[in-house]
Amino acid sequence: MPQAHARFPPTRLASRPRDGRPWNQPWWRPAPGKSGVLVYLLLIHVLAIAGLILFPLPGWRVFGVAAVLATAGSLGTTIGYHRLLAHRTLRLNPVVEQVLIFAAMFNGSGAPASWVAYHRLHHACADTELDISSPSQGGFWWAHLRWLYQSPRAESQRWCPDLDHGRYRAWGHAEVPVLLLSLSCGLALGWAGFFWIGAIRLVYCLHLQCFVNSLTHLGPAAGRDRSQNVWWLGPLQLGAWGENWHGNHHAAAGVARFGRRWWQVDIGWYLICALEAVGLADRVKRPVTRNAPVHNRAAAAPVEPHR
Ligand SMILES: [Zn+2]
Ligand SMILES: [Zn+2]
Repeated sequence: MPQAHARFPPTRLASRPRDGRPWNQPWWRPAPGKSGVLVYLLLIHVLAIAGLILFPLPGWRVFGVAAVLATAGSLGTTIGYHRLLAHRTLRLNPVVEQVLIFAAMFNGSGAPASWVAYHRLHHACADTELDISSPSQGGFWWAHLRWLYQSPRAESQRWCPDLDHGRYRAWGHAEVPVLLLSLSCGLALGWAGFFWIGAIRLVYCLHLQCFVNSLTHLGPAAGRDRSQNVWWLGPLQLGAWGENWHGNHHAAAGVARFGRRWWQVDIGWYLICALEAVGLADRVKRPVTRNAPVHNRAAAAPVEPHR
């Protein structure tokens, strides 16, 4: 039995809707309490399409600001949310940690406790019926977008009690104001800035992150866990380059490095090494061997935070 199942009995992994499988609902019906998520997703897509029609060429300044914000947000998600908070594979200077959390939220990744709760649940039962974002169960679009507004919430008290307090809980209250700021701040550079730095950036970052749930879980069905590496996704992911080595990550979720070979570019890992070199990160968990063996999958279970 996988370690995570031992800690979190399957019957209590998540509360299911009465009809059982949420992916069998019509695509347009949000889960209770998640109407706002669907409205947000529709809004940014409509604004992004309008922006691409009205301002197909935004100019280098607007494009550059959007690219910098997207890169910062991607690093916030892959280092701050994923490698630090969800898997505790390193320890970070608290100021750097809070900056990364803000960058991730500004990029539309949601509050830290909700992201981490969903992610630990995903690892604990990857690609089974209890996994809330598996294409093996609900198909590509379920794994890519629909689970965001149609799955039951993962309980933060159960999945990440280490984040259910203090400054982490406070970020939950800041989610809507941060998103409104993110969506509208580009107006300072005119209407092209409004669309490109706001909705177009958010839609781009949304889909590039969603591919990690959908595309990188469409691997061979030989085993239960269908995670795989997708090399060509990396260059499209800016600062989140490294998340595309998702098969490596599932094989050894307890280490901070996602790339294994020298040619597996992992921008998040390089920044962690840089932060460690200047004393802003420590207790970095490294792979024992270059190719982590499959039996290390048990490391996918949530781990205790550093004390
Ligand atoms: Zn993970
Ligand atoms: Zn996964």
